[in-house]
Amino acid sequence: MFRKILIANRSEIACRVIVTARRLGIATVAVYSEADARARHVALADEAWPIGPAPPRESYLAGERIIEVARRTGAEAIHPGYGFLSENADFAEACAAAGVAFIGPPVGAIRAMGSKSAAKTLMEKAGVPLVPGYHGKAQDVSTLAAAAERIGYPVLIKASAGGGGKGMRIVERSADLEAAIGGAKREALASFGDDQVLVEKYLTRPRHIEIQVFADTHGNAVSLFERDCSIQRRHQKVLEEAPAPGMQPERRRRMSEAALAAARAVGYVGAGTVEFIAKGGAFWFMEMNTRLQVEHPVTEMITGLDLVEWQLRVAAGERLPLAQDEIPIRGHAIEARIYAEDPGRDFLPSIGTLVHLRQPPETVEVRVDTGVREGDSITPYYDPMIAKLIVWGPDRDAATRRLEIALEAYEVVGVATNLGLLRAIAGSPAFLAADLDTGFIGRHTRADRAADNPEPAAWTAAVLAVLEGQRVVTPADPWDLADSFRLNSEGDQAILLRTGETVMAIRAASRGDGAFRLLLGDVTVIARTGPDGISVDGVLHRTRVVRQGDELTVIHRGRNHVFALVDPLMPPGVRGAGDDRVVAPIPARITHVLVRAGDLVTKGAALIVLEAMKMEITLTAPRDGTIDVIRYIVGDMVEEGTELIHFADGATA
Ligand code: ADP
Repeated sequence: MFRKILIANRSEIACRVIVTARRLGIATVAVYSEADARARHVALADEAWPIGPAPPRESYLAGERIIEVARRTGAEAIHPGYGFLSENADFAEACAAAGVAFIGPPVGAIRAMGSKSAAKTLMEKAGVPLVPGYHGKAQDVSTLAAAAERIGYPVLIKASAGGGGKGMRIVERSADLEAAIGGAKREALASFGDDQVLVEKYLTRPRHIEIQVFADTHGNAVSLFERDCSIQRRHQKVLEEAPAPGMQPERRRRMSEAALAAARAVGYVGAGTVEFIAKGGAFWFMEMNTRLQVEHPVTEMITGLDLVEWQLRVAAGERLPLAQDEIPIRGHAIEARIYAEDPGRDFLPSIGTLVHLRQPPETVEVRVDTGVREGDSITPYYDPMIAKLIVWGPDRDAATRRLEIALEAYEVVGVATNLGLLRAIAGSPAFLAADLDTGFIGRHTRADRAADNPEPAAWTAAVLAVLEGQRVVTPADPWDLADSFRLNSEGDQAILLRTGETVMAIRAASRGDGAFRLLLGDVTVIARTGPDGISVDGVLHRTRVVRQGDELTVIHRGRNHVFALVDPLMPPGVRGAGDDRVVAPIPARITHVLVRAGDLVTKGAALIVLEAMKMEITLTAPRDGTIDVIRYIVGDMVEEGTELIHFADGATA
């Protein structure tokens, strides 16, 4: 076995490889870009070496630089993880030339499977079933159009060098074919430097079922069974599980045989995944991924095996640890990919700092693979994955329930996430019923897009956090306006909170015993903060509040509700208030105008009093100066952001 390996990757997969290496007594060398200097994988490894600036091309894809680090540190092998250099045959070749083992298949196998078209030609010869299609060299429109006619619409155009769904186009009718080919080719050229495409029959409502295979250098090859990755968003995996629901042993055996035939056809060694598209009882080869897959943990959970350990053993020349009939399947596992993505912006990556991060506690049944910690950033340079949550249960129902509970326990503040989508999937009757196909998300998760209104407990948690943070807005000011005050006792405070379009004024009075009496709308409650949340009239609610300046994120029932603390004395600049203007911070009625046009005022002087939601708000001068215009009179109703007073140009000393 190796004594030291280098991990040519980052984030969760680098961390995951390090954990196994450490268990096996293998020293680890991490590499990192400038953006990752404080990353978790750097902290976990025994050694960490900088390899260049943040853009992957200059760091994680800079093969020569990485091999140089391996040489200098005496690492005997390189684990490429997934993505980056993992399926780069030239890199594998360069490793061999430098005398460093590449923890992956032989160069020839990577090349053979690198092109979807060439791989399909090979698979055809090996007797592996293929989706009806065309994967020849000729690329002129008439050849491709003739193929599409023969296959029958709808067809799918795919980039031969493709991955990540890039260069893929569904074409419903012949009139759209030429444009789709042009688009697919342009995208393929830009992404992979190769514009070859293939045409396939586009199957409606299929399942994605893949087989994990393993082969050693002694001629042994086994199947570690299937994973169902049908829950996808835009043809990219979101949730994966093993075994595939409804999989019969006979079909599993046939799919495993086809996958092993595919592996043997290219002289495969190491971990590989043969992806099939399946419908009814039939299945067809799509492609082979010549690396460890993101979703390998579900296979580990049902077999009790460590796939990275197997990779290391095979790369070190050992035999596969188990024969086919010694590999067990126990229970059911599901993986959910948690991404920093903004559902409100069509799931674009959400860049930012993980201000607050709590993961469900790890147990035998719950595993979290992650590369980030609280305080880390999701940068625009890399995949925005936060973590993989993997759960196990004795059966699928148990695993699904565990998934729901674990997703509820996930807390992320600072970036938008796909947690809402994952919860909507996990909680949907169709998912429970294992009614899976690649169109699942489109059909079953629309409700998730509607914003959730916070419940009273969430409002209460936000108010208590403000009260305890002692940054409350007290409408009391030097101006004697007691006649219009509606405070009912001394020590009353008013807090203005906004969420979405809703603004609420909450009155609070301390009871002196740590509890507060709150007037929420027209309901009075007694509330206090406890160790795991709040109590409202004695009823406990699990809540968590993360405060960033005037923004409070309340996590309640697995949902994030963002409240803004509205400070009526200081209209925020973002709403257009400048040095020369005084604007209404919220919709309000004008109750007092304390100045006249032409008046000379000093900064902080009270100018105008508003009433909104049973609360007095006094607006003050943003600077010393002369009042130019007052735009409203007492009794007027004004909208949020309305300019009320304008100052004359130039500061007056
Ligand atoms: P990539 O390598 O770009 O991820 P794949 O060939 O692996 O592309 O396909 C990704 C997904 O696209 C599949 O999991 C499946 O959901 C869908 N897909 C691929 N081929 C077909 C097909 N012929 N018919 C219907 N859906 C398909």
